[in-house]
Amino acid sequence: MQELTNYIAGQWQVGERTFVKTSPFHGQAIATVHEATESMVDEAVRAAHRVSIGDRASAWGNLAMTQRLAIVEDFAGRLMARVDDLVEAEVQDTGRSYWQACNFDGARAAKLFRAYAAAAENLEDRSKSFSGAMGKAMWYTNRRPKGVIGCITPWNMPLLMMCMKIAPALVMGNGVVAKPSEETPSSSAILAEVIAESDIPDGVFSLVHGFGAGSTGEYLTRHPLVNAFNFTGESATGVQIMQAASVGLREVSLELGGKNAALIFQDANMDHVIDGVRRSSFFNAGQICFCTERAYVHRSRYDEFIEKMAKAASDIVIGDLHHEGFSIGPLVSHAHRDKVKNLLDTVVEDGGEFVAGGDIPKFGDERDNGAFILPSIAIGLPETARFVKQEAFGPVLHIAPFDDEQEAIDLANDTQYGLATSIWTENISRAHRVAPQVRVGHAWVNSWQLRDLLSPISGVGASGLGRDGGRDSLEFCSQPQTVTVRLFDQ
Ligand code: NAD
Repeated sequence: MQELTNYIAGQWQVGERTFVKTSPFHGQAIATVHEATESMVDEAVRAAHRVSIGDRASAWGNLAMTQRLAIVEDFAGRLMARVDDLVEAEVQDTGRSYWQACNFDGARAAKLFRAYAAAAENLEDRSKSFSGAMGKAMWYTNRRPKGVIGCITPWNMPLLMMCMKIAPALVMGNGVVAKPSEETPSSSAILAEVIAESDIPDGVFSLVHGFGAGSTGEYLTRHPLVNAFNFTGESATGVQIMQAASVGLREVSLELGGKNAALIFQDANMDHVIDGVRRSSFFNAGQICFCTERAYVHRSRYDEFIEKMAKAASDIVIGDLHHEGFSIGPLVSHAHRDKVKNLLDTVVEDGGEFVAGGDIPKFGDERDNGAFILPSIAIGLPETARFVKQEAFGPVLHIAPFDDEQEAIDLANDTQYGLATSIWTENISRAHRVAPQVRVGHAWVNSWQLRDLLSPISGVGASGLGRDGGRDSLEFCSQPQTVTVRLFDQ
């Protein structure tokens, strides 16, 4: 069994308490993880402060951008060399297939560092000449590191989420204290190993393991020397982090939950729709923030959609680690499976019925000790039903009909969340007309999760105050400083 310790200011440190990470695939213990103490978090934050904006800022925050980017590029190469280990870590922690971990996790993480290094190199400063009663002058901006960025991540895409946060923070010269989810500590541990071997100076990056409230997450959010928090997770946790960050006026970027709708219009190409919604609802067992949990279908295609989606969901391969192609694994933990199962149990109580799934699968082998749930589709529910309103973050879909475009938009917007939508239509005018009327951060047309890694991620309402993705992340991770220079005529 692996033993995962904390990486703090260049040293590996054991905690006073440990916890056991179990596999969601077969329920066996796979790692002992050392929870960081409050004094270890303090040491990590102080080290990050020193090398970013404190007395040893020359070590990282004051390096010329080209020097810093060369170090990050070299690190990305070293990370690429560990792709097999990263893939194995993701498979063990989450129970997803090797195919998925290879195609959507491993190498993409290393690519992210390269993409952010290139984006930072091309980030333009602003400047302007002006004149007024006091004479002529010009100003320009410098982008300075913000200081210490606390990166707190969820378990659904552990490696990618962590890299999306630390890559922009590092290239802009910040110190980082990273806390991965207690459910998925392994890939971040490999990241820390690679950082330890790279030329990134000690203290620039620390990794602290543990839980949220009353543990590492809370120690980090209440530490006064952390200048900003980049958080992805549940909406309720986002509120707690924002409250903690308000002490000392620290900035937050919060990527939170969703209850995303797919809108399927009468002119949609049904083959594309079924393939797309199967992916958007069930990919990663529905544990992607952008996943579709509600599908609204024009009444003329409603029965056809239900029949084809039910078949597509029932045909999904479940729990085959070596399946090449689309399949689903377990939910991340038994606790999360119980939460999703409880929501499934409300369907019949609230007047609905299942046309696929609705229960826990039976395998007759070790997977029966895992945290699996069947891809589940419910129909016949009122829009007020718990299954329609609450985020499941599992392989679930509610289907209901609509009669006209405005009704479809109203149904999509009838939620406290506002993260993503997918619009299925062959009518290009309709696509452009509908997209801006759905209150979400990302609208896909005839696709889902077709995403450039540097495109902005944002949400409205309970989906957060995100400033993530590409330029938005680089700006969040830096502070513009204006320098104004007076110009004399002689
Ligand atoms: P979570 O909020 O329970 O935990 C996320 C992280 O926060 C973990 O590392 C956890 O230990 C930590 N944490 C919990 N309480 C804390 C506290 N009080 N102070 C500091 N840290 C604390 O979320 P989760 O269950 O890991 O992830 C699932 C959620 O993430 C879903 O709601 C999903 O929609 C959301 N999510 C959103 C996006 C997005 O981009 N909008 C992406 C992925 C996941």
